[in-house]
Amino acid sequence: MNKPVLTIVVPCFNEEEVLKETIFQLSTVLKELMEDALVSQDSKLLFVDDGSKDRTWEIIETESEINLFVTGVKLAGNVGHQNALIAGLEIANQQSDCIVSIDADLQDDIKVIRTFVEKYREGMDIVYGVRDSRDTDTYFKRTTALAFYRFMEKIGIKLVPNHADFRLMSKRALDELLKYKERNLFLRGLVPLVGFATTKVYYDRKERLAGESKYPLKKMLAFAFDGITSFSVAPIRFVTFLGFLAVILSAFAGGYALIQEMLGHTESGWTSLIISIWFVGGLQLMGIGIIGEYIGKIYREVKQRPRYAIATDLFTVKGIEKPQEEPVLSR
Ligand code: UDP
Ligand code: MG
Repeated sequence: MNKPVLTIVVPCFNEEEVLKETIFQLSTVLKELMEDALVSQDSKLLFVDDGSKDRTWEIIETESEINLFVTGVKLAGNVGHQNALIAGLEIANQQSDCIVSIDADLQDDIKVIRTFVEKYREGMDIVYGVRDSRDTDTYFKRTTALAFYRFMEKIGIKLVPNHADFRLMSKRALDELLKYKERNLFLRGLVPLVGFATTKVYYDRKERLAGESKYPLKKMLAFAFDGITSFSVAPIRFVTFLGFLAVILSAFAGGYALIQEMLGHTESGWTSLIISIWFVGGLQLMGIGIIGEYIGKIYREVKQRPRYAIATDLFTVKGIEKPQEEPVLSR
Protein backbone atom coordinates (compact mmCIF):
# COMPACT_ATOMS: atom_id res chain seq x y z
CA MET A 1 0.00 0.00 0.00
CA ASN A 2 1.15 3.50 -0.80
CA LYS A 3 1.66 5.60 2.25
CA PRO A 4 -1.55 7.62 2.68
CA VAL A 5 -1.50 11.38 3.17
CA LEU A 6 -3.12 12.01 6.54
CA THR A 7 -4.47 15.39 7.61
CA ILE A 8 -5.49 15.95 11.21
CA VAL A 9 -8.13 18.67 11.38
CA VAL A 10 -8.42 20.64 14.62
CA PRO A 11 -11.10 23.31 15.10
CA CYS A 12 -9.95 25.98 17.58
CA PHE A 13 -11.93 28.70 19.26
CA ASN A 14 -10.07 30.79 21.86
CA GLU A 15 -7.64 27.98 22.61
CA GLU A 16 -4.45 30.01 23.29
CA GLU A 17 -3.96 28.31 26.66
CA VAL A 18 -3.79 24.81 25.28
CA LEU A 19 -2.77 25.22 21.65
CA LYS A 20 1.02 25.08 21.96
CA GLU A 21 0.85 21.85 23.91
CA THR A 22 -1.69 20.44 21.45
CA ILE A 23 0.56 21.29 18.52
CA PHE A 24 3.51 19.67 20.24
CA GLN A 25 1.68 16.47 21.10
CA LEU A 26 -0.03 16.07 17.74
CA SER A 27 3.26 16.77 15.94
CA THR A 28 4.87 13.99 17.95
CA VAL A 29 2.14 11.56 16.98
CA LEU A 30 2.41 12.53 13.32
CA LYS A 31 6.19 12.29 13.36
CA GLU A 32 6.07 8.79 14.81
CA LEU A 33 3.53 7.73 12.20
CA MET A 34 5.86 8.98 9.49
CA GLU A 35 8.88 7.30 11.01
CA ASP A 36 7.03 4.01 11.06
CA ALA A 37 6.07 4.56 7.41
CA LEU A 38 2.37 4.41 8.23
CA VAL A 39 1.57 7.76 6.63
CA SER A 40 3.10 9.89 3.89
CA GLN A 41 5.65 12.63 4.57
CA ASP A 42 3.08 15.09 3.16
CA SER A 43 0.78 14.52 6.13
CA LYS A 44 -0.19 17.66 8.00
CA LEU A 45 -1.95 19.16 10.98
CA LEU A 46 -4.64 21.60 9.90
CA PHE A 47 -5.78 24.06 12.56
CA VAL A 48 -9.00 25.90 11.82
CA ASP A 49 -9.25 29.13 13.75
CA ASP A 50 -12.96 29.70 14.26
CA GLY A 51 -12.84 33.47 14.64
CA SER A 52 -10.97 33.41 17.96
CA LYS A 53 -10.70 36.61 19.94
CA ASP A 54 -7.44 35.63 21.61
CA ARG A 55 -3.97 34.79 20.29
CA THR A 56 -4.99 31.47 18.75
CA TRP A 57 -4.30 32.52 15.17
CA GLU A 58 -0.96 34.11 16.01
CA ILE A 59 0.12 30.84 17.58
CA ILE A 60 -0.97 28.85 14.54
CA GLU A 61 0.77 31.27 12.20
CA THR A 62 4.10 31.35 14.04
CA GLU A 63 4.07 27.60 14.55
CA SER A 64 3.42 27.07 10.85
CA GLU A 65 6.67 28.88 10.15
CA ILE A 66 8.80 26.76 12.45
CA ASN A 67 6.94 23.45 12.44
CA LEU A 68 6.73 21.68 9.09
CA PHE A 69 3.60 19.79 10.05
CA VAL A 70 1.53 22.80 11.02
CA THR A 71 -0.79 24.58 8.64
CA GLY A 72 -3.85 26.64 9.41
CA VAL A 73 -6.97 28.22 8.11
CA LYS A 74 -8.43 31.33 9.64
CA LEU A 75 -12.16 31.73 9.30
CA ALA A 76 -13.48 35.25 8.97
CA GLY A 77 -15.71 34.93 12.03
CA ASN A 78 -17.00 32.49 14.63
CA VAL A 79 -19.27 29.95 12.95
CA GLY A 80 -19.37 27.30 15.66
CA HIS A 81 -17.64 23.97 16.16
CA GLN A 82 -19.55 21.98 13.52
CA ASN A 83 -19.16 24.56 10.77
CA ALA A 84 -15.50 25.14 11.59
CA LEU A 85 -14.95 21.42 11.44
CA ILE A 86 -16.65 21.02 8.05
CA ALA A 87 -14.56 23.93 6.78
CA GLY A 88 -11.41 22.08 7.81
CA LEU A 89 -12.64 18.80 6.36
CA GLU A 90 -13.53 20.38 3.05
CA ILE A 91 -10.14 22.04 2.73
CA ALA A 92 -8.17 19.03 3.93
CA ASN A 93 -10.04 16.69 1.62
CA GLN A 94 -8.46 18.25 -1.47
CA GLN A 95 -5.01 17.03 -0.55
CA SER A 96 -5.48 14.02 1.71
CA ASP A 97 -6.19 10.31 1.51
CA CYS A 98 -7.59 10.16 5.00
CA ILE A 99 -8.60 12.78 7.54
CA VAL A 100 -8.79 12.65 11.33
CA SER A 101 -10.81 15.24 13.23
CA ILE A 102 -10.07 16.01 16.86
CA ASP A 103 -10.79 18.78 19.37
CA ALA A 104 -8.06 21.21 20.33
CA ASP A 105 -8.29 20.47 24.05
CA LEU A 106 -6.89 16.91 23.66
CA GLN A 107 -9.62 15.35 25.76
CA ASP A 108 -9.51 12.54 23.26
CA ASP A 109 -6.65 10.10 23.40
CA ILE A 110 -4.30 11.02 20.58
CA LYS A 111 -2.51 7.69 20.88
CA VAL A 112 -5.42 5.97 19.17
CA ILE A 113 -4.84 8.01 16.02
CA ARG A 114 -2.29 5.33 15.21
CA THR A 115 -4.99 2.67 15.58
CA PHE A 116 -7.27 4.77 13.36
CA VAL A 117 -4.60 4.76 10.65
CA GLU A 118 -4.01 1.03 11.02
CA LYS A 119 -7.74 0.38 10.62
CA TYR A 120 -7.75 2.62 7.57
CA ARG A 121 -4.89 0.67 6.10
CA GLU A 122 -6.88 -2.50 6.72
CA GLY A 123 -9.59 -1.09 4.49
CA MET A 124 -11.92 0.80 6.83
CA ASP A 125 -13.44 4.02 5.52
CA ILE A 126 -14.78 5.42 8.77
CA VAL A 127 -13.21 4.80 12.18
CA TYR A 128 -15.13 6.14 15.18
CA GLY A 129 -13.34 7.04 18.39
CA VAL A 130 -15.62 5.94 21.22
CA ARG A 131 -15.19 6.94 24.86
CA ASP A 132 -14.87 3.98 27.13
CA SER A 133 -15.58 5.74 30.39
CA ARG A 134 -16.80 9.18 31.22
CA ASP A 135 -15.09 9.39 34.61
CA THR A 136 -13.61 12.78 33.88
CA ASP A 137 -16.89 14.38 32.87
CA THR A 138 -19.05 15.94 35.54
CA TYR A 139 -21.91 13.80 36.85
CA PHE A 140 -24.32 16.19 35.19
CA LYS A 141 -22.72 16.00 31.75
CA ARG A 142 -22.46 12.22 32.00
CA THR A 143 -26.09 11.59 32.84
CA THR A 144 -27.49 14.15 30.43
CA ALA A 145 -25.34 12.78 27.62
CA LEU A 146 -26.50 9.24 28.34
CA ALA A 147 -30.15 10.30 28.45
CA PHE A 148 -29.61 12.13 25.16
CA TYR A 149 -28.28 9.05 23.38
CA ARG A 150 -31.13 6.92 24.75
CA PHE A 151 -33.70 9.45 23.61
CA MET A 152 -32.14 9.77 20.16
CA GLU A 153 -32.21 6.01 19.74
CA LYS A 154 -35.87 5.88 20.79
CA ILE A 155 -36.96 8.36 18.18
CA GLY A 156 -34.96 6.61 15.50
CA ILE A 157 -31.81 8.68 15.04
CA LYS A 158 -28.78 6.54 14.39
CA LEU A 159 -25.86 7.77 16.50
CA VAL A 160 -22.73 6.05 17.71
CA PRO A 161 -23.10 6.34 21.51
CA ASN A 162 -20.26 8.10 23.29
CA HIS A 163 -18.70 9.18 20.04
CA ALA A 164 -18.12 12.87 19.50
CA ASP A 165 -16.26 14.25 16.53
CA PHE A 166 -13.06 12.26 17.01
CA ARG A 167 -12.90 10.03 13.95
CA LEU A 168 -11.02 9.09 10.82
CA MET A 169 -12.62 9.25 7.41
CA SER A 170 -11.22 8.12 4.09
CA LYS A 171 -11.29 10.53 1.21
CA ARG A 172 -14.13 8.73 -0.52
CA ALA A 173 -16.25 8.67 2.64
CA LEU A 174 -15.60 12.37 3.15
CA ASP A 175 -16.45 13.07 -0.50
CA GLU A 176 -19.86 11.56 0.20
CA LEU A 177 -20.29 13.43 3.48
CA LEU A 178 -19.52 16.72 1.77
CA LYS A 179 -22.43 16.12 -0.61
CA TYR A 180 -24.81 16.67 2.32
CA LYS A 181 -25.46 20.34 1.83
CA GLU A 182 -27.54 21.06 4.91
CA ARG A 183 -26.86 24.14 7.01
CA ASN A 184 -28.02 22.70 10.34
CA LEU A 185 -24.94 20.61 10.81
CA PHE A 186 -24.90 17.69 13.22
CA LEU A 187 -21.98 15.73 11.89
CA ARG A 188 -22.19 12.76 14.21
CA GLY A 189 -25.71 12.18 12.92
CA LEU A 190 -24.67 12.52 9.28
CA VAL A 191 -21.56 10.35 9.23
CA PRO A 192 -23.43 7.08 9.95
CA LEU A 193 -25.68 7.85 6.96
CA VAL A 194 -22.69 7.81 4.61
CA GLY A 195 -22.19 4.06 4.77
CA PHE A 196 -18.95 2.23 3.78
CA ALA A 197 -16.93 -0.04 6.05
CA THR A 198 -16.86 1.33 9.58
CA THR A 199 -15.36 0.31 12.89
CA LYS A 200 -14.98 1.67 16.42
CA VAL A 201 -11.89 2.24 18.52
CA TYR A 202 -12.33 2.63 22.28
CA TYR A 203 -10.36 5.02 24.48
CA ASP A 204 -10.55 6.84 27.80
CA ARG A 205 -11.62 10.44 27.64
CA LYS A 206 -9.49 12.82 29.66
CA GLU A 207 -9.89 16.22 31.23
CA ARG A 208 -9.44 19.27 29.09
CA LEU A 209 -5.68 20.04 29.06
CA ALA A 210 -6.23 23.74 29.75
CA GLY A 211 -8.76 26.47 29.19
CA GLU A 212 -12.50 26.27 29.59
CA SER A 213 -15.15 24.32 27.76
CA LYS A 214 -16.47 26.23 24.79
CA TYR A 215 -19.74 24.37 25.19
CA PRO A 216 -21.58 25.90 28.12
CA LEU A 217 -24.93 24.37 29.05
CA LYS A 218 -26.85 26.74 26.83
CA LYS A 219 -24.86 25.76 23.73
CA MET A 220 -25.09 22.10 24.71
CA LEU A 221 -28.87 22.22 24.93
CA ALA A 222 -29.10 24.09 21.64
CA PHE A 223 -26.83 21.47 20.06
CA ALA A 224 -28.97 18.59 21.34
CA PHE A 225 -32.14 20.29 20.16
CA ASP A 226 -30.58 20.89 16.76
CA GLY A 227 -29.57 17.27 16.58
CA ILE A 228 -33.13 16.15 17.21
CA THR A 229 -34.94 18.54 14.93
CA SER A 230 -32.42 18.17 12.09
CA PHE A 231 -32.94 14.45 11.85
CA SER A 232 -36.38 13.59 13.07
CA VAL A 233 -40.00 14.61 12.79
CA ALA A 234 -40.77 12.89 16.09
CA PRO A 235 -41.52 16.17 17.90
CA ILE A 236 -44.13 17.06 15.28
CA ARG A 237 -45.67 13.59 15.57
CA PHE A 238 -45.79 13.99 19.32
CA VAL A 239 -47.75 17.21 18.99
CA THR A 240 -50.15 15.54 16.58
CA PHE A 241 -50.61 12.76 19.10
CA LEU A 242 -51.29 15.28 21.87
CA GLY A 243 -53.80 16.96 19.61
CA PHE A 244 -55.69 13.70 19.07
CA LEU A 245 -55.63 12.99 22.77
CA ALA A 246 -57.02 16.45 23.53
CA VAL A 247 -59.87 15.95 21.05
CA ILE A 248 -60.84 12.61 22.57
CA LEU A 249 -60.65 14.02 26.09
CA SER A 250 -62.70 17.05 25.15
CA ALA A 251 -65.46 14.74 23.84
CA PHE A 252 -65.73 13.27 27.35
CA ALA A 253 -65.57 16.70 28.88
CA GLY A 254 -68.30 17.87 26.49
CA GLY A 255 -70.52 14.96 27.52
CA TYR A 256 -69.93 15.83 31.15
CA ALA A 257 -70.76 19.50 30.52
CA LEU A 258 -74.02 18.57 28.74
CA ILE A 259 -75.13 16.36 31.63
CA GLN A 260 -74.31 19.15 34.07
CA GLU A 261 -76.43 21.55 31.98
CA MET A 262 -79.39 19.16 31.89
CA LEU A 263 -79.17 18.87 35.66
CA GLY A 264 -79.18 22.65 35.91
CA HIS A 265 -75.66 23.13 37.34
CA THR A 266 -74.39 25.25 34.44
CA GLU A 267 -72.59 27.89 36.46
CA SER A 268 -70.23 25.34 37.90
CA GLY A 269 -69.03 24.68 34.33
CA TRP A 270 -66.99 27.83 34.40
CA THR A 271 -63.96 26.11 35.92
CA SER A 272 -63.79 23.35 33.34
CA LEU A 273 -64.32 25.89 30.59
CA ILE A 274 -61.46 28.04 31.71
CA ILE A 275 -59.24 25.01 32.17
CA SER A 276 -59.92 23.75 28.66
CA ILE A 277 -59.33 27.17 27.16
CA TRP A 278 -55.93 27.26 28.76
CA PHE A 279 -55.20 23.65 27.95
CA VAL A 280 -56.08 23.87 24.28
CA GLY A 281 -54.44 27.28 23.98
CA GLY A 282 -51.28 25.84 25.46
CA LEU A 283 -51.34 22.89 23.11
CA GLN A 284 -51.75 25.14 20.13
CA LEU A 285 -48.90 27.35 21.16
CA MET A 286 -46.68 24.35 21.66
CA GLY A 287 -47.59 22.97 18.28
CA ILE A 288 -47.03 26.28 16.57
CA GLY A 289 -43.69 26.62 18.30
CA ILE A 290 -42.41 23.27 17.13
CA ILE A 291 -43.71 23.71 13.60
CA GLY A 292 -42.05 27.10 13.66
CA GLU A 293 -38.77 25.41 14.53
CA TYR A 294 -38.96 23.32 11.39
CA ILE A 295 -40.03 26.25 9.26
CA GLY A 296 -37.05 28.13 10.64
CA LYS A 297 -34.84 25.31 9.47
CA ILE A 298 -36.41 25.27 6.01
CA TYR A 299 -35.86 28.99 5.89
CA ARG A 300 -32.18 28.61 6.67
CA GLU A 301 -31.78 25.73 4.21
CA VAL A 302 -33.42 27.45 1.26
CA LYS A 303 -31.19 30.45 1.62
CA GLN A 304 -28.21 28.21 0.91
CA ARG A 305 -25.87 30.52 2.71
CA PRO A 306 -22.22 29.58 2.71
CA ARG A 307 -21.29 27.78 5.90
CA TYR A 308 -18.10 29.70 6.48
CA ALA A 309 -15.75 32.22 4.98
CA ILE A 310 -11.99 31.82 4.81
CA ALA A 311 -9.79 34.74 5.73
CA THR A 312 -6.37 33.11 5.38
CA ASP A 313 -5.50 29.66 4.11
CA LEU A 314 -2.00 28.45 4.87
CA PHE A 315 -2.84 24.85 3.99
CA THR A 316 -3.73 25.18 0.34
CA VAL A 317 -1.12 27.83 -0.35
CA LYS A 318 1.55 25.56 1.08
CA GLY A 319 0.23 22.71 -1.03
CA ILE A 320 0.57 24.68 -4.22
CA GLU A 321 4.00 26.03 -3.39
CA LYS A 322 5.24 22.62 -2.34
CA PRO A 323 8.59 22.12 -4.07
CA GLN A 324 8.39 19.76 -6.99
CA GLU A 325 10.03 16.42 -6.54
CA GLU A 326 13.32 15.97 -8.31
CA PRO A 327 12.55 14.75 -11.84
CA VAL A 328 13.93 11.33 -12.51
CA LEU A 329 16.67 11.69 -15.09
CA SER A 330 16.84 9.05 -17.74
CA ARG A 331 19.27 8.66 -20.54
N1 UDP B 1 -14.95 25.17 19.04
C1 UDP B 1 -15.02 25.89 17.85
N2 UDP B 1 -15.96 26.88 17.73
C2 UDP B 1 -16.84 27.18 18.73
C3 UDP B 1 -16.78 26.41 19.93
C4 UDP B 1 -15.84 25.41 20.05
O1 UDP B 1 -14.24 25.64 16.92
O2 UDP B 1 -17.65 28.09 18.56
C5 UDP B 1 -13.94 24.09 19.18
C6 UDP B 1 -13.09 24.16 20.41
O3 UDP B 1 -11.96 24.97 20.22
C7 UDP B 1 -12.70 22.70 20.61
C8 UDP B 1 -13.92 21.95 20.10
O4 UDP B 1 -14.64 22.87 19.29
O5 UDP B 1 -11.58 22.33 19.84
C9 UDP B 1 -14.79 21.40 21.20
O6 UDP B 1 -15.07 22.39 22.16
P1 UDP B 1 -14.95 22.12 23.72
O7 UDP B 1 -13.77 21.26 24.02
O8 UDP B 1 -14.98 23.44 24.41
O9 UDP B 1 -16.30 21.33 24.00
P2 UDP B 1 -16.54 20.17 25.11
O10 UDP B 1 -15.46 19.16 24.95
O11 UDP B 1 -16.51 20.86 26.42
O12 UDP B 1 -17.91 19.63 24.74
MG1 MG C 1 -13.56 19.48 25.03
